[in-house]
Amino acid sequence: MTKTYTREYWQSQLERAKPRTGIFIDGKFGDAVDGGRFERVRPMDGRVGYEAARGTAGDIDLAVASARRAFDDRRWRDKLPADRKAIMLRWAALVREHAEELALLETIDAGKPISDTLNVDTRSCANTLQFYAEMIDKLNDEVMPTGPDDRAIVLKEPLGVIGAITPWNYPLIIDAWKVGPAIAAGNSIVLKPSELTPLGALRLAELAIEAGLPEGVFNVVPGYGHDAGAALAAHNDVAMLAFTGSTATGKRIMAAAAESNLKRVALELGGKSPVIVLDDADLGAAASAIAWGMFYNSGETCHAPSRIVAAAKVQDELIERIASVAKTIRQDHPLDPGTQIGALIEEKHLDKVMRYIARGREEGASLRLGGNRALADTGGFYVEPTIFANASNGMAIARDEIFGPVLTVIPFSHEAEAERIANDTIYGLAAAVFTNDMTRAHRLSRSVQAGTFWINAYDLSNISTPFGGFKQSGFGRDRSVHAIEKYMDFKTVWQHFL
Ligand code: NDP
Repeated sequence: MTKTYTREYWQSQLERAKPRTGIFIDGKFGDAVDGGRFERVRPMDGRVGYEAARGTAGDIDLAVASARRAFDDRRWRDKLPADRKAIMLRWAALVREHAEELALLETIDAGKPISDTLNVDTRSCANTLQFYAEMIDKLNDEVMPTGPDDRAIVLKEPLGVIGAITPWNYPLIIDAWKVGPAIAAGNSIVLKPSELTPLGALRLAELAIEAGLPEGVFNVVPGYGHDAGAALAAHNDVAMLAFTGSTATGKRIMAAAAESNLKRVALELGGKSPVIVLDDADLGAAASAIAWGMFYNSGETCHAPSRIVAAAKVQDELIERIASVAKTIRQDHPLDPGTQIGALIEEKHLDKVMRYIARGREEGASLRLGGNRALADTGGFYVEPTIFANASNGMAIARDEIFGPVLTVIPFSHEAEAERIANDTIYGLAAAVFTNDMTRAHRLSRSVQAGTFWINAYDLSNISTPFGGFKQSGFGRDRSVHAIEKYMDFKTVWQHFL
């Protein structure tokens, strides 16, 4: 029977919640080496939610040393594949069992609607762990066709200690995208979640130990990016760094990798993803996909369709339809089960989004919806779904990743112009086209540079499909069977028959 949730239920759970807030090394929670702590202000109401340990370079050293010991003594990678698989499957099952608790932690930290964290984020996290668990006993080595007197065996080996740095917009989902394949491949991992959203990662690691993952294989160090994050990126004993976040930080991480031990990096960075709406498109379908794609998670989505490149003759009707859909999306307190959009991550980010809205007005784009702070009496950080029309691609609202609920619509008159505008960005994470002409759709799918391209849809997503960017949206892919390859490397073993 499906359980019915109420606001009162979640409020009482919030009052009772006792989140883990230490640093998780060697399977145990502890304080930061220097005793540092920080306060986390809740996005939902602007109140201090909890105080947590703030790790720095010293804690990163301890966590990497723990992960290194776990890798060197082979306590995880030498277990039978069937046993590793069973442990990871148990872990996925524990995430499902603790879905309510994890969902609440994610809502406290990120200000997302509880219905999403319960039905989308925790589910996706468990499914990802299960997907990579199931790969463990299917990772075959290879014997190559060499000569009659010799044999070359190509082994797939784990890399060692993996560092992962993850952002605040989909913490549990993105943590699982890194941790799942890295651990399934036999590595140890040190995860530095965003200091804004550490709670889900800490509980996830604790559940891993409960499932039977050996201590030290998965360590979590919450702390600031410029401090703990930078130390992890520069660490000489980290073999590979998997990162999701802004393009600016991605560049710093790549530089730190180059200047330290030349560790590999995989970077899933920002986006300013275009949706081309041609004049023959089904505008109802386009409007619904764009509104949900853009305003879901308050626009804090790296592949949000934030730049609409619309045929001039359909622009106004399209915007009216997007606005009508947006008005049906309920923005309210994240603990209300009926809420569909919640709060932005923090006050500083709210200010940044509001500055972009002011800039859009100054630059002469026409404001067609929203533009204001919402639910200010809650003390939380909410912004109305906002739409700008008649923008040009040179405006800041068309070029920069705002990472809030702000949609920019740019009209075009010829298809070649649409293609040029779509590609006129430093980013290349995702793109889409709406049209009834499949020849035009497929031509654009080849000419628009993006890691994911949708035709007559937005945001269709599945763990079996690779996800990541072209251009300054980064490189390396999360999700799918391909993601595990970046946490392993080939070793060729030759044998000569004497
Ligand atoms: P960042 O890129 O700064 O943060 C992402 C992660 O990197 C966090 O864990 C952060 O830690 C860490 N980090 C920050 N600085 C460093 C560093 N020098 N070395 C190593 N790690 C570091 O994103 P912000 O949180 O500042 O958000 C800014 C903008 O980035 C957003 O407005 C949005 O445009 C974009 N963004 C894109 C995301 C995506 O999914 N592609 C996700 C998040 C942000 P900490 O949070 O503790 O500083």
